[in-house]
Amino acid sequence: MTEAPYLSIKGISKSFGALQVVRDADIAVGRGEFVSFLGPSGCGKTTILRMVAGFETPSTGSISIDGRDITYLKPSQRNIGMVFQSYALFPNLTVADNIGFGLRVAGVNRAEIASRVEEMLALIKLPQLAERFPWQLSGGQQQRVALARALAPRPTVLLLDEPLSALDAKIRVSLREEIRAIQQDLGITTIFVTHDQEEALSMSDRVMVMNQGRIEQIGTPAEIYNHPSTSFVAGFVGTLS
Ligand code: ADP
Repeated sequence: MTEAPYLSIKGISKSFGALQVVRDADIAVGRGEFVSFLGPSGCGKTTILRMVAGFETPSTGSISIDGRDITYLKPSQRNIGMVFQSYALFPNLTVADNIGFGLRVAGVNRAEIASRVEEMLALIKLPQLAERFPWQLSGGQQQRVALARALAPRPTVLLLDEPLSALDAKIRVSLREEIRAIQQDLGITTIFVTHDQEEALSMSDRVMVMNQGRIEQIGTPAEIYNHPSTSFVAGFVGTLS
């Protein structure tokens, strides 16, 4: 990366009581880049994501976006979009109202919300589902709506925490491509947390491999796959089925 990083995570550590779950992590993500955090369950991926989102405070280190230190800002002050593994749509709101929810909370006027919702429905290719309720949608459709809801306020950074893990295999593969296409279309800086090697290697500009709270390697999918720098990375990536 030649230009200054857009999202900069410097010397981040996190302990819960005596348990240190993230150890001195440094990651610089470029503007518009798609970076996956890959590693086995419990290695600390989500904890880093939660520190970027503001749901956890680092024990040491700092986080900045576009040169602005956000380490101690409240989540609502960060303008970050997030999608979780389980869709967490509001069950009593229509698709359109789910997508517009954050804008309404932010006091955006009705006309602007309606036009943004329409734009987001087109982006996820579900314009016909605006008035449906979440229970009337498939799992894949619900995740697309969750993505639209996260993107509607035009966040600076998009955080995706295992967004495909609850879906069946066929939908997972098509949604991978769709998420990546939308991300590139918007040029939005994205972190994608996954324990699935194939997912990380097929979707990302770069992959950060973690093990027991430490970064093992950061590189392009080809670098990680062809030139693993530690035996852990070789073993973890090599277990591709
Ligand atoms: P991953 O996303 O890689 O599966 P996590 O970041 O969720 O890993 O968790 C890393 C470790 O931190 C795990 O051992 C988990 O049990 C622990 N952990 C996460 N959140 C908390 C918490 N709020 N309190 C105590 N331990 C936690």
